[in-house]
Amino acid sequence: MSPMILDGNAAASQLRDELRQKITALATQGKQPGLAVVLVGENPASKVYVANKAKQTKEIGMLSVEHRLPAETSEADLLAIVEKLNHDPAIHGILVQLPLPEHINAEKVLESINPDKDVDGFHAVNAGKLAIGMNALVPCTPLGSVYLAKMYKKDLSGLHAVVIGRSNIVGKPVAQLLLQENCTVTIVHSRTKNIADICRQADLLVAAIGKPLFVGADMVKDGAIVIDVGINRVPKPDGGSKIVGDVDFDAVKDKTAAITPVPGGVGPMTIAFLLANTLRAFELSEARNH
Ligand code: NAP
Repeated sequence: MSPMILDGNAAASQLRDELRQKITALATQGKQPGLAVVLVGENPASKVYVANKAKQTKEIGMLSVEHRLPAETSEADLLAIVEKLNHDPAIHGILVQLPLPEHINAEKVLESINPDKDVDGFHAVNAGKLAIGMNALVPCTPLGSVYLAKMYKKDLSGLHAVVIGRSNIVGKPVAQLLLQENCTVTIVHSRTKNIADICRQADLLVAAIGKPLFVGADMVKDGAIVIDVGINRVPKPDGGSKIVGDVDFDAVKDKTAAITPVPGGVGPMTIAFLLANTLRAFELSEARNH
C-alpha cells in the first residue's frame, strides 16, 4: 500500500485558517494579539524566514512588529529592545531570530525574554515546564512534528518512538511531547551505538540531525510513521542547489505507513505553530489580567 504523505503545506494552511477565524472574532472585541520579531544582521536565510513570519502574521490579522537591526548592534542594545518588548502590552509574543552575530550571547538574550511571551518556547522556564508536564509555551517545530504524526494516527499511545537528535530546540522537546502522548521514547544521538538497529524498532521515527539523507531504508521498520525535521541544502548534479531532509525519502517511503516530504512537511508547520503560540500567549495574558 502506498504511504500517506503528510502534507505540511495543507496542514499549515488549515491551521492558519482556524487562527484567522479566532483573530477575526477577537477583533470584534477590539483585541489583537501581537508578535514582535527581532532580526540582527544580514543572514540571507534569516531575512527570508523573518519576512515569511511577518507576512503570515499579518495575513491572519495579528499585529506584526519587526525590528531589523544592523549586525554591529551591541548585546546591551539588543537586551534593551527585548526589555522594552517585554513590557509592551500590545506584544504577546517575542521572537529573536537565530543565529545571532558572534559577539552576542544568544543564551543570555533568549533568557531575557519574558517566559510568558517566549513563543519559540526556548526559555529555560518553558523547557522546564514542558519537562514536568506544566502548561508551557512549547517550541514550534516539535509541535508541528507531532501534529503531522497525529494526522496519520490520532492516538500515538504505546508506540515506540525513536527520536534521532537531542538538541534543545528539536530533539529534546519532540521527545517530551511524545512522552506526553504516551509513547515509549528512545533518543539516539551522535554517540549512540547501533543507531540503525534502534531505529528499525521504531513505530514512529523522528529524524532531527541535519545530515542529508542519513536515514535509509535499512533503518526503517515496515509500516513506520517517519517524520523528517531535517533541512539540508545540497548541490544538484547539474548545478545550483536543493533542499533535502535527513531521511532518504525515495528509498524509504514505500516501507512507511506515513511520511513527511522535505520540503513541504515539517517546515511549513513551524511558522503556523509560531502563530498558534502567539495566540496562546495572548489568551494566557488575558486570563492573567482578568
Ligand atoms: P543540532 O542542534 O545541530 O542538533 C543535531 C543533533 O543531531 C545533535 O543532538 C547531534 O548529536 C545529532 N547528530 C548529529 N549527527 C548525528 C549522527 N551522525 N548520528 C546521530 N545523531 C547525530 O540541530 P537541530 O537544530 O536540532 O536541527 C536538526 C535539523 O532540523 C537540521 O537539519 C535543521 O535545519 C532542522 N530544523 C528544521 C526546522 C524546521 O522548521 N523544519 C527547525 C529547526 C531545525 P550530539 O548531541 O551527540 O552532537
